[in-house]
Amino acid sequence: MSASPAEQRLEPGTDAGGEPASATVPKVSARGLEKRFGSGPREVHAMGPVDLDIHEGEFVCIVGPSGCGKSTFVKVAAGLIPPTAGTLTLSFRDDTDARIATVFQDYGIFPWKTVRGNVQFALRARGVSRAEARERSEHWLRKLGLAQFGDAYPHTLSGGMRQRVAIARALVVDPELLLMDEPFAALDAQLREILQDELLSLHQDRGRTVVFVTHSLEEAILLGDRVIVMSNRPGTIRDDQVVPFPRPRDPSLRESPELPRLRAKLWAHLRRDVNAQMEQAEGER
Ligand code: ADP
Ligand code: MG
Repeated sequence: MSASPAEQRLEPGTDAGGEPASATVPKVSARGLEKRFGSGPREVHAMGPVDLDIHEGEFVCIVGPSGCGKSTFVKVAAGLIPPTAGTLTLSFRDDTDARIATVFQDYGIFPWKTVRGNVQFALRARGVSRAEARERSEHWLRKLGLAQFGDAYPHTLSGGMRQRVAIARALVVDPELLLMDEPFAALDAQLREILQDELLSLHQDRGRTVVFVTHSLEEAILLGDRVIVMSNRPGTIRDDQVVPFPRPRDPSLRESPELPRLRAKLWAHLRRDVNAQMEQAEGER
């Protein structure tokens, strides 16, 4: 990986509560984080500067106008592309390879491997024994309704099913940090709800840290402890709202009258940027 995600910030936490440092050191800490693609007149300032702390066990959702740099942030956080400026510090409890798993919009699964092979590979690549990899994979294939498709190749599956393979492959690792970029966008509404509930219980049971990009404000509110609203490109943080719903979250929350109220609050921050983007597109036509 290019940007080393293993860098540890060793300063003690700033909270003066006698808490162990590990409880206060953020899992993800971005300072002045920026990404530009290309150079000279062709340069695209895609994102930042972004300052953001995400703590252990937090579920943070990111929303923002399309093209504002959300995927870029996730790719930099995953260490897939290096930042142009600023720092990104990730801290992990474990020194194993099960630290980060990612799910992207375009699946990123191997077309030459079967469904089962794709899910097992995630573990085998991290040094898990063949027997254990098989057992853990079968568990997640069942959970995601893929048990009957273990021997199928991705090209024979629908987009929604391929996306489920990508999700299974990330979850099977049980990563300390789960980075998900619009993972449910390609799924139909029912499956989307099932996987939202699944992800909620996974987060609640395992206390994992999740960064989740979505274009759905409802989804962000339903899942997140915080919702980050990004501005138009270059995306910076426009708003950072704490979602006041307690955990464990119940699926009935979808019917809560609080949901549209919070949605309206977030939309108020987002609307200006979305409108500006539409006006700009109009002007370019
Ligand atoms: P979002 O995920 O919020 O829709 P992206 O992070 O994908 O936005 O993209 C942000 C901006 O950076 C867009 O203008 C996009 O065209 C540009 N961009 C993304 N990746 C690259 C790349 N590899 N090279 C050049 N420009 C890029
Ligand atoms: Mg994107």
